[in-house]
Amino acid sequence: MSWWRRMTMTQARGAGREPVAGTGAMAAAAVREGRTLNAFTWLDPAWMPPSVGQGPLAGFGCAVKANICGAGWPNDCASAVLSHYRSPYGSTAVARLQAAGGLCLGLANMDEFGMGSSCEYSTYGPVQNPWREGFTAGGSSGGSAAAVAAGLAWFALGSDTGGSVRLPAHCCGIVGLKPTYGRVSRYGLIAFASSLDVIGILARSVDDAALVLSVLAGPDPRDATSLDAAFAVPDPGLPVRGLTLGVPRDLTDGLAEPAVREDFERTLAVARDLGLKVVDAPLPAAADAVQTYLVLAAAEAASNLARYDGSLYGGTTEPGAGSVGGTAFEQQVTATRTAGLGPEVKRRILLGTHVLAAGYRQRFYDRAQAHRKVLTARMQEVLGVVDALILPTAAEGAFRLGSRLDDPVAMYRTDQFTVPASLAGLPALTLPTGLDARGLPLSVQLVGPRLGEDLLIRLGRALEEALDFRSRKEAPWHRLP
Ligand code: GLN
Repeated sequence: MSWWRRMTMTQARGAGREPVAGTGAMAAAAVREGRTLNAFTWLDPAWMPPSVGQGPLAGFGCAVKANICGAGWPNDCASAVLSHYRSPYGSTAVARLQAAGGLCLGLANMDEFGMGSSCEYSTYGPVQNPWREGFTAGGSSGGSAAAVAAGLAWFALGSDTGGSVRLPAHCCGIVGLKPTYGRVSRYGLIAFASSLDVIGILARSVDDAALVLSVLAGPDPRDATSLDAAFAVPDPGLPVRGLTLGVPRDLTDGLAEPAVREDFERTLAVARDLGLKVVDAPLPAAADAVQTYLVLAAAEAASNLARYDGSLYGGTTEPGAGSVGGTAFEQQVTATRTAGLGPEVKRRILLGTHVLAAGYRQRFYDRAQAHRKVLTARMQEVLGVVDALILPTAAEGAFRLGSRLDDPVAMYRTDQFTVPASLAGLPALTLPTGLDARGLPLSVQLVGPRLGEDLLIRLGRALEEALDFRSRKEAPWHRLP
């Protein structure tokens, strides 16, 4: 009986199971099934330390997204340009997990540098959805989500710049937590868009996500943007009755598929049964959030990725290949990027360079910054009136692999419900709610005020218990032997 696929960390502890025994079974399964799902880019043969430490995560094994560094790990961000890279130092997040007794099984597949919504922009090829082959596990933290949903890890670390923890959690029917910007140190997270990047958690339950956050959160002298805000798992007895949820219908109603709208209304009915108040919370400023996000994320990516020029990073390609004229340095840069970067990353660098160029900056970058301010202010204002926002994580369930590759704008639109919380730096929790007509998972997203993770955990727990999604027999954790 593969109890290790089905139990949450909290349940395993309660049932007196040995976490390391479960982790050992997962490590073995990860070798076989990890390949079928393409969930890992690297499995650490030395995942089992000479002695397992003490702490809240003692013996529990996790997957770590390939852009979150561990000392000596091949953190290539699923990019050919970093194919020979070994991280010289580890991230604060991994150090904290290990100090809490957590074990890292390996690195999880992702969209190259975190750019994408389906894990198809990976030099390793796409991740398969454990619910159904041929469908996306979501992106960009798709490997992390697939590993957790298939029972190959107790939990996983991902990164969320515009939705990359929440969307994969949605596609794979698990819990995804994007903390408040700065609540978890970004030291050792390879940068995509620094003003948006957040390390997040993919987990089997809301309580498991809370437990991991309590280990990760808190100030870090190595990250100047980290907040002096530790996190304690809220008391399970705290009531939610009387709290108010705001629904930004103007954003979601016209865009969500009928199956998503039905599932969402069912979830709101469950919330009302729990004694929660559900009110309308219009968010007209969120209508242009995808455009704003894309301009800002591309601008920051173009700057952050300037380092992959063949000097310090990615200098393994033959100079001359793909280059025409220019200085030796220009030829080196052209050769490195032509061979080392995939199509989506190139698109972002071109777009980001364009929106920052003299003559265009005011029209694009400055306007996007101004809009980000307006949206942030509006969301903070709304969250002064309601306790949390609730909306579907995405307008539909997982899509078929290949179906959006020819249409980058459709791919960007996948994030339309997740980018508002990213732009405003607010915490958001995705939890599974039901299945669509195809039998693929759907979810809602709770968005809280700055540092309001405790409230999201309380609300999430109550909804999770009432919805009882984990007991669905179609789920991979029940189906797989
Ligand atoms: N899909 C979005 C993008 O491609 C978000 C990615 C992310 O959150 N890392 O930019």
